[in-house]
Amino acid sequence: MNTRDTLYVKDGNLMIGSFKATELAAKFGTPLYVMDAQYIAEVCDAFVAAVKKCGSGAVAFANKAFATVATAKLAAAHGLWFDVVSGGELYLVAQAGADMKKVLFHGNNKTSREIDEGLAHGIGFFVVDSLNELELLDEKAGKRGVKQDVLVRVNPGVSAHTYEAVMTAAPFSKFGFDVHGDALDVIKDIASRKNLNFRGLHVHIGSQIYDHSSYDAAIGITTDFVKKLADEGIVTDILDMGGGYGIYYTDEDPKFTPRRYAYTVESIARLVAEKSAEKGLKQPFLIVEPGRSIVGEAGVTLYTVGAIKDFPGVRKYVAVDGGMFDNPRYALYESRYSAVIANKADKPADEIVTVAGKCCESGDLIGKDMPLQHAETGDILAVFSTGAYNYSMASNYNLNAVPPVVLVDGDKADYIVKPQTYGDLLRNNTVPEWLNG
Ligand SMILES: *Cc1c(COP(=O)(O)O)cnc(C)c1O
Repeated sequence: MNTRDTLYVKDGNLMIGSFKATELAAKFGTPLYVMDAQYIAEVCDAFVAAVKKCGSGAVAFANKAFATVATAKLAAAHGLWFDVVSGGELYLVAQAGADMKKVLFHGNNKTSREIDEGLAHGIGFFVVDSLNELELLDEKAGKRGVKQDVLVRVNPGVSAHTYEAVMTAAPFSKFGFDVHGDALDVIKDIASRKNLNFRGLHVHIGSQIYDHSSYDAAIGITTDFVKKLADEGIVTDILDMGGGYGIYYTDEDPKFTPRRYAYTVESIARLVAEKSAEKGLKQPFLIVEPGRSIVGEAGVTLYTVGAIKDFPGVRKYVAVDGGMFDNPRYALYESRYSAVIANKADKPADEIVTVAGKCCESGDLIGKDMPLQHAETGDILAVFSTGAYNYSMASNYNLNAVPPVVLVDGDKADYIVKPQTYGDLLRNNTVPEWLNG
């Protein structure tokens, strides 16, 4: 457990803000996602300060990590820009009242409709990722009589030290144009177009990265490429170095604080400034795009312990009222989490258990071999660092309801996503005439 001012143990109880976790579970039910507003605000502020340390810049929140209107409002209030990767996320930030000039639209295969929607909202930047998109965007911008600012996603060919599924800049990735291949020609093409305005480069090497050397390598290669563009007379105003900062999940990971997260951004900002100066380039406006590190540790999922099955000497299953429908990350990546029994948080974690979900899949686990206090049916299990890629990846598998989300802000707590009803689960079901007999 990575404790902080708003996540700690008091009199044997796990506390989130001023609330006992068990109190939140009793009031709002389980399974329940709880998000800590103060922590999100703190990380946002630390990142914004860090990115501006060595020049001008902005922090864009990657909505895909956790997308709700309330948290988008919170992030905007702390000066953040937004990354969106779909028409849905674009709609969300517009609903949250975001300044659309501070929105970047990512994606390796934006649909024609999404491009139209981005243009209609007058977003700041499209991050162009394919020739198809380039043609479509140029044509559609022309029809609207606008000159659209674009960044170009380039692939520096860096293999970040992380899981393969979340590695996005290894050679032959589905993302971006190769800096050692066609990127130069693509950018020359954009520079010659009437309706597109080349503003800079975007690089995102992957996710859950702790190792700064991956960023260092990417910055070295990318600034070399900026130099190559400069030699061709093409100016790069903006350098967007993506996100991907690793967070604390288990005691095998570093215990981050907002300061320590910000240090990663600071060192990126410093290196971009150094490398640009070294190569005689003008200082770019630096954008970073953290997702996981802003919301990940802010989230705790609360479950009620149900069935317990012990195979002595083999494995003990502790089953909870959630599972892969609220947290598919074990099933997807065998991700690891840490947890406590919220009402026994000061007791020793002297059992090793497998926390199982309630879905009809053997792979539906929250975690294997997790150290935990002795669990009994009815206990409240709190799983940490579930703020990123849990709610945003949730599904209605087995027609389980996606749990509601409660935002805790010190001594205030309220829904930011309401519970789904059975009616919600069938809302879009319809029966064709001919089946109605
Ligand atoms: C996913 C993604 C991010 C955020 O990654 P995190 O690991 O959540 O920080 C940023 N930029 C792009 C383009 C992404 O695809």
